[in-house]
Amino acid sequence: MTAPFSICVYCGSRSGVAEHFVQAAVQVGRWIGERGGQLVYGGGNKGLMGTVADATLAAGGTVVGIIPQALVDKEFAKRDCTELHIVGNMHDRKRLMSERAGAFLALPGGIGTFEELFEVWTWRQLGYHDKPVGILDTAGYYQPLLHFLQTSVRAGFMNEWQMDLVRVGTDPGALLQQLVASSPGADAPHDLSQI
Ligand code: AMP
Repeated sequence: MTAPFSICVYCGSRSGVAEHFVQAAVQVGRWIGERGGQLVYGGGNKGLMGTVADATLAAGGTVVGIIPQALVDKEFAKRDCTELHIVGNMHDRKRLMSERAGAFLALPGGIGTFEELFEVWTWRQLGYHDKPVGILDTAGYYQPLLHFLQTSVRAGFMNEWQMDLVRVGTDPGALLQQLVASSPGADAPHDLSQI
């Protein structure tokens, strides 16, 4: 049976120092799983990545993990994913992750998470896809970054409309609901061929 929605979650390969980061990842996975949805993610079994995947599976959802061969051991590839794709490199991973999802959500994480978030955000700005992008701002984690981006707007390097392409929320369920409601679906036109 096809899942009613598919959402790509970017998040830390570490869990962070506070329990609320783990709790937020559990809430996200549970929300997806309880609705029979599909999680697309980086395929690792470490940190918040493993947490969100476990929570999705435990709640009855499907999980598509996509991991480069070189990271299979380093990130503990999650063998019990519904689908585990071992791909040749990071570019293939990111392309497949973005193709298989109808919306994107960044949870707290490190530079890998930031890179993935900014990539789908810039792809949206450039019109390569029309899928919604969200940031889960657990415990104000993303506030310094969002403030810096407003600095960029004031300095004339960004427009407000670019900021408006990302939905920021603190409540996992409410944010997921908004993303799913505005998603064109995982099969929506998605043309990365010019990148
Ligand atoms: P981090 O947020 O740094 O813990 O990383 C989260 C995930 O992002 C991990 O699965 C990393 O393999 C992945 N990652 C790291 N660098 C990149 C990159 N350049 N592009 C895409 N994903 C990356």
